[in-house]
Amino acid sequence: MGLQFDGTPASPGIAIGPAFLLDVEELLVSRRVLAGPEEAGRELERFDRAVEQTRSELLALASGMEDLMEGRQLIDAHILLVDDPTMKNDVRRRIESDLEGAEYAVSRVIYEVIERFGRMKDPYARERSADIRDVGRRLINKLLGTEREALARLESPVVLVARDLDPSVTAGLRREQVLGFATDEGGSTSHTAILARSLGIPAVVALKTAAESVRPRQTVIVDGIHGRVIVDPDADQIFYYTKLRKKYEEIQASIALNASEPARTADGLEIGLAANIEFSQEADQVRRYGGRGIGLFRTEFLRLISPGDDDEETDYREYAHALRVINPDTVIIRTLDIGGDKLLSGDEFHERNPFLGYRAIRVCLDRPWIYRKQLRAIMRASVEGRARLLIPLVTEVSQVLKTREMMAEIAAELDSLGIPYDPGIPVGIMVETPAATIGIDLFLPHVDFVSLGTNDLTQYTLAVDRGSPFVAKLFDANHPAVLRQIDHVVKCCHDAGKWVGVCGQMAAEPLSVPLLVGLGVDELSVSISLIPDIKKLVSVLESDSVRKLARAALEMPSGLHVRQAVRAFIADRFPEILLDGGPDPEA
Ligand code: PEP
Ligand code: MG
Repeated sequence: MGLQFDGTPASPGIAIGPAFLLDVEELLVSRRVLAGPEEAGRELERFDRAVEQTRSELLALASGMEDLMEGRQLIDAHILLVDDPTMKNDVRRRIESDLEGAEYAVSRVIYEVIERFGRMKDPYARERSADIRDVGRRLINKLLGTEREALARLESPVVLVARDLDPSVTAGLRREQVLGFATDEGGSTSHTAILARSLGIPAVVALKTAAESVRPRQTVIVDGIHGRVIVDPDADQIFYYTKLRKKYEEIQASIALNASEPARTADGLEIGLAANIEFSQEADQVRRYGGRGIGLFRTEFLRLISPGDDDEETDYREYAHALRVINPDTVIIRTLDIGGDKLLSGDEFHERNPFLGYRAIRVCLDRPWIYRKQLRAIMRASVEGRARLLIPLVTEVSQVLKTREMMAEIAAELDSLGIPYDPGIPVGIMVETPAATIGIDLFLPHVDFVSLGTNDLTQYTLAVDRGSPFVAKLFDANHPAVLRQIDHVVKCCHDAGKWVGVCGQMAAEPLSVPLLVGLGVDELSVSISLIPDIKKLVSVLESDSVRKLARAALEMPSGLHVRQAVRAFIADRFPEILLDGGPDPEA
């Protein structure tokens, strides 16, 4: 039996393949005992090669810098450390006499040195620990083959295993390189998980200790349906998961057959089903998967792959493409939601609580020169189809008014230049903070529509960091406190004659969709690869029963009770694959 790790399912599907370890961030390496002197000899050679490669890498880095530059001096110091005879002798001794694997031996020696330096009184010596850690990490990454550059050179696809992935790394991946993701950190609504879904790659996050237990090229199974990862599986497990993968793919294919039909409940109530996209090319796939329109175009990922590129033309081309392809359905373009766990390169904010800090509309209004370019690009592109503009993380009415003011200024400018635009672009807000739900009546006179961002709404309501594996179990969009806010917002919007959609991950959760339909939302917007499943799920619901279910849920004492009730409600209505066989979080 392979080693099993349970985490949070982040993107559905099954992947089986060789592991690729990306950036072992800390010096955590499992102990590997060598068989004897012969293997030790090979390990010594591997160690020497890693030292050699690390030194050349550092020399190459240094060669582009002038002698007196601080960076150059730092790299020179790192080169000295790599060549340090005491360090090398200690590692060699552990490999030869203690029969330890090279990467483990390096990690132990580096740890000991760091500890020694850490105890010293001299602040300079203490600061050196960071350099030593860095050199150790480089050596270990070489020994484990975890460098990012190697990822670009891959010839056959791999399962990416890491403690965490930067959205900027994930955004740059090519679909055909990666079979699946497994990360120790993150939650199902962290931005890496969102990208995995948008790329249609099976992923499991919040595995806590998987990355340190996997060796390069070891076979790994990622079960993105149930949130499980198996390392070094036996033949029975491979057989079982190969069958499950086939079954899952068959279900996906059969569901996609009804792509041109809208989503309808069993008794004929039509509900909007749109796509969340991060890149404009994804728009080409929306109809094929059975979606109508784009409920959320997250525009910040374009910036994360092309850092520094806040060029209006690039944005314009992206938006125009999506609008053209999706026309006559609508495309909801969200303005930059940078910050939180998505920093622009060069931005080095060290906030204690980044999710409560410099993020989204707050950044845009603080840097109007960036915001203005984006608004202009959206307005210019608006003639290509039906655009709506969505503002993230709104907590103040003034943020909407300021945006409208800027749009009016840009309109005058475009008029004077004779550049066409749609003068009636609807402006909406992401309702994703308690300020916006409880205060929804304050905002409604100033907005044309509302989109519920349940990822952040859950995070801010329950005070649970959406990316932390330690509190992932507390992250529950089905918590009655969240449901009551959604209920309130939907009622207020409909009373005011305004449209309200849901674009958070909740819209794609089988145990939440019946509630959202029951609460009366107008649209569910989900990652493209999940559209077929959600359409199928909606089709087995009766509108009356889900209304009753949702009413009852609002009065339940906890999210756990709600999930149990929904699970019982849909158990015999939904394809077994998404519910059965997986670990029951309540069990
Ligand atoms: C949300 O918060 O639910 C949402 C859709 O926005 P994001 O996940 O990009 O923060
Ligand atoms: Mg959000």
